[in-house]
Amino acid sequence: MDAPARQTLAVWKFASCDGCQLSLLDCEDELLTLAEHVELAYFLEATRATVEGPYDVSLVEGSITTPHDAERIREIRRQSRALVTIGACATSGGIQALRNFADVEAFTSIVYASPDYISTLATSTSISTHVPVDFELNGCPIDKHQLLEVINAHLNRRRPRVRAHSVCVECKRRGTVCVMVAHGTPCLGPVTHAGCGALCPSYHRGCYGCFGPMETPNPRSLSDRMAELGADDVDLVRVYRTFHAGARPFHDESERHERD
Ligand code: SF4
Ligand code: SF4
Repeated sequence: MDAPARQTLAVWKFASCDGCQLSLLDCEDELLTLAEHVELAYFLEATRATVEGPYDVSLVEGSITTPHDAERIREIRRQSRALVTIGACATSGGIQALRNFADVEAFTSIVYASPDYISTLATSTSISTHVPVDFELNGCPIDKHQLLEVINAHLNRRRPRVRAHSVCVECKRRGTVCVMVAHGTPCLGPVTHAGCGALCPSYHRGCYGCFGPMETPNPRSLSDRMAELGADDVDLVRVYRTFHAGARPFHDESERHERD
């Protein structure tokens, strides 16, 4: 009897640094097992050989920053049974979403000798702004164990087991002393999605919010606490405008402090 056909996995890149795609290649111990069950049909970071779609699962890294990107993601959506976005760029526009608060033409005229050759949108936006997305995996970069869980879940048509609680829960689980309570160090952990294992607090640093907003965050309350610890409006705008400046809760909180 013939072996059942392997399901196909495609990996796509938009405006990004490739760090999240590398998280898949970083699965050194699991990659061969994955390849036994899944055909890596389109993954230019790993191989030039490609297989035509449609694809069972597409992983999409990067944000939409050009008119061509906006067309391409619609075609990828048409070719994908399940579409999963991976990383801050794809889920909220990434660091490049800082352009959303500024004049992109002013940037291109400073950076490029001939800005008229540049075809770009005024904004950097998430993939879900343009097409329906089946799952958003947070992180900058993503966690490879969460990535394997999400791939497994979508290949088997089940819901991924990725917890939506805050980084504070991860601190409590590993027994890390809270840097904000013990030392007054500003920390985005109370409003940030878990996934990193509370890495920065475990090294006595505040969380930078790489994994983006958790479910139902309360950044206004956190800002009040940071202000009590000495942060002014300029500090607070910067705190929220890093990896996830385009994520609505962080975007709105940063705007509130820019207006104040
Ligand atoms: S989310 Fe971070 S690590 Fe991933 S592609 Fe974007 S900048 Fe790179
Ligand atoms: S160190 Fe930060 S993430 Fe950890 S418990 Fe304190 S506030 Fe939360």
